[in-house]
Amino acid sequence: MSPVRTPDSATAPARTGVWAAPGRVNLIGEHTDYNDGFVLPIALPQAARATVRPRADRTLRLYSEQGDGRTVELDIDALSPGGVDGWARYPAAVVWALREAGCAIGGADVHIDSDVPTGAGLSSSAAIECVVAAAYNDLHDLGLTRKELARIAQRAENAFVGVPCGIMDQMASVCARQGEALFLDTRDLSARHVPVDLEGAGLRLLVIDTQVKHDLADGEYAKLRAGCERASALLGLPALRDLTPDRLPAALDRLPAELRPLVRHVVSENARVEQAAALLHEGYLHALGPILTSGHASLRDDFGVSCPETDLAVEAAVDAGALGARMTGGGFGGSVIALVAADRAPTVTTAVETAFRQAAYTAPRAFTAVPSSGARRIV
Ligand code: ADP
Ligand code: MG
Repeated sequence: MSPVRTPDSATAPARTGVWAAPGRVNLIGEHTDYNDGFVLPIALPQAARATVRPRADRTLRLYSEQGDGRTVELDIDALSPGGVDGWARYPAAVVWALREAGCAIGGADVHIDSDVPTGAGLSSSAAIECVVAAAYNDLHDLGLTRKELARIAQRAENAFVGVPCGIMDQMASVCARQGEALFLDTRDLSARHVPVDLEGAGLRLLVIDTQVKHDLADGEYAKLRAGCERASALLGLPALRDLTPDRLPAALDRLPAELRPLVRHVVSENARVEQAAALLHEGYLHALGPILTSGHASLRDDFGVSCPETDLAVEAAVDAGALGARMTGGGFGGSVIALVAADRAPTVTTAVETAFRQAAYTAPRAFTAVPSSGARRIV
């Protein structure tokens, strides 16, 4: 039974509404967001939808169609990090972060339904965070800007859920626009929307969900982040973003061997994002292909976050004629993106499926990504 009843009380039924916030794929710029660097995500048409009905009391009632069948009931004044288990941590975290930020909020019945695949590197977590943040912002007239909403959602995931993620996923989910990529400087959150007219260029962006998530993902992410922070401290820089490619060789000489590949990846990846954004700006979508593939090589060889499944998907896609391909998201599984001529899309998809079958991997799931809108009220 749905926990969101039809409006039947005098509490504020007219304010009940439905909001949507999307998942994302990142075109390029992986593991750069926690180094104050650049990213270039697009929002997906797949989104979390939340029907939210404000309550007169301080109770937060959460239900998700993709949850565990339970309705979770929480007192918003008693929310504290570590105090909520399972999927409900994500939406509860946002209400906690709003409360901590001093926002005047109340209870709500929240019903979530999302078609963003979970754990596939497509940011289902940010989608449910951002949809709750957007709904609360509107319902309580909080007046928070989109960037402030993204910061609230990131703080929620960092401090309440306990995942030390950067700001990319939340900024993409909140700020992205239809038909455009978000070229984001994660240092100051300055953003430029760059057109991505795939159809006009006769191209398709395939997303291939490998359906694998290796267990080391969470622990490794924190270790990699700590490694980057140690490297920037040793170099006396505020963040690795401050290291320009021309100063990279000298900087590498000053670092212990185990940190050098991490730094090489972050510096080269930032350069790739700037190059990719410039190409999109000029409308040279085809030229993006080689940048994607070299970004994958950097993640595989320097940062060490690819895995046999994502490597195979990239290799099979490129061998079958993709202009370029790379893993997207944090790594250790998840999804691969491939930029392909529209008429090659079926061939490339089949080639990846065949390669997976031959390797006895779980069948991947492929779909076409269409740059879509960020968080919005839909009803
Ligand atoms: P990603 O964000 O890449 O999909 P994460 O591990 O960051 O992967 O987040 C996935 C988690 O987010 C799920 O395990 C679940 O706890 C939560 N989640 C995402 N979407 C939903 C949903 N529709 N309903 C309930 N929980 C969800
Ligand atoms: Mg996530």
